[in-house]
Amino acid sequence: MRLLIPGPVSTHPDVRAAAAVDYAPWDDDFRDVVERIRARVLRAAGGRPGEHVALVLQGCGHFALEAACRTFVPEGGRILLPKTGQYADRLERLATEIGRVVVPLEVPGDRPVDPAALAEALDADGSIKHVALIYSETSTGVVHDVPALAAAAGSQGRRVIVDAVSAFGALPFDINALPMVDSVGFTTNKCLEGLPGASVTVARVDRLEACAGQARSWSLDLSELHDHNRRSPGTFRFTPAAGAIVAFDVALALFEAEGGQAARLARYAENMRALIEGVQALGLQPYLARESQGPIVVNVHAPTDPAWDLIRFVNLLKRREIVISNFYNTPAPSFRVGCIGAITPENMRDSVGAMGEVLLEMGVRNRAAA
Ligand SMILES: *Cc1c(COP(=O)(O)O)cnc(C)c1O
Repeated sequence: MRLLIPGPVSTHPDVRAAAAVDYAPWDDDFRDVVERIRARVLRAAGGRPGEHVALVLQGCGHFALEAACRTFVPEGGRILLPKTGQYADRLERLATEIGRVVVPLEVPGDRPVDPAALAEALDADGSIKHVALIYSETSTGVVHDVPALAAAAGSQGRRVIVDAVSAFGALPFDINALPMVDSVGFTTNKCLEGLPGASVTVARVDRLEACAGQARSWSLDLSELHDHNRRSPGTFRFTPAAGAIVAFDVALALFEAEGGQAARLARYAENMRALIEGVQALGLQPYLARESQGPIVVNVHAPTDPAWDLIRFVNLLKRREIVISNFYNTPAPSFRVGCIGAITPENMRDSVGAMGEVLLEMGVRNRAAA
């Protein structure tokens, strides 16, 4: 099966093979793997040893984000959050549930957030000490200019937490150039093309130390995790998904061999172009204006034809070994296709060919946007 969804993504066979073995996570060999992963991730984020650390935590992306909010924002602390789409909504919920106060910044969902709007909101409310930013808003496919937005927050002395779950590995990120960023969170899956199973945070050491004791959680305390890593390198406080950890080491080696972030961005952008041009040639209409379309996920307007049926489309594609999302999350009906994972532009062109066959099989003739 080829997964054309924005996570979990298709992976290289070597990545999957690494997880098909039993591992003892407290074994010395395993410790070496964990420390190698942490060094590789730190390098990929532009981190400097001693100033920044990479922390590997059990769970999925939301666990990293909750851990960051708990660790860096005190209870009752106020967080400005541009409401970019459903992933911003999710961050709002998880921060609110743990007693942090989200101040929403309403923004248009179909284009990048304007740094001037963020600066203005911060200017108006000095009680906001943190800003949370979604780098790639996976519900819309829009990429937000995190370096520029973080700079706007930093110029007013505010701290920044970044959700780069669907961005890291593909979109440029240099934590050393962004001293206002406390942490950036992502996972072993998505653009790093490992298996799902662990979340990863790259954070500032000074902030981890300054925030010790603030998380009010044992499992989701990044300061404590950092302290543990220092005392006992390569070990976890609790049992990790060991197979996914070893598979992540293989995925990071493949990432480096491909040419790192720039090469990955180029491949995904080419996947996105092949998809957009392909669906347009089928008479379908992409949801976003081309200049707002990021390289991670593409929403396509559902066709008007009464023969259109999303679930039937999904099921007929699945018979051709292609999986797309069986739901949409745009205001108007659409279908969504991920451009990330171990897939090539050639794979994407084949997949669009399969979409054309399925539309014919379904009898979808009027393909104008519904
Ligand atoms: C995938 C994703 C997450 C986290 O999802 P999990 O299911 O918790 O791994 C968070 N934010 C964004 C933008 C995402 O794309």
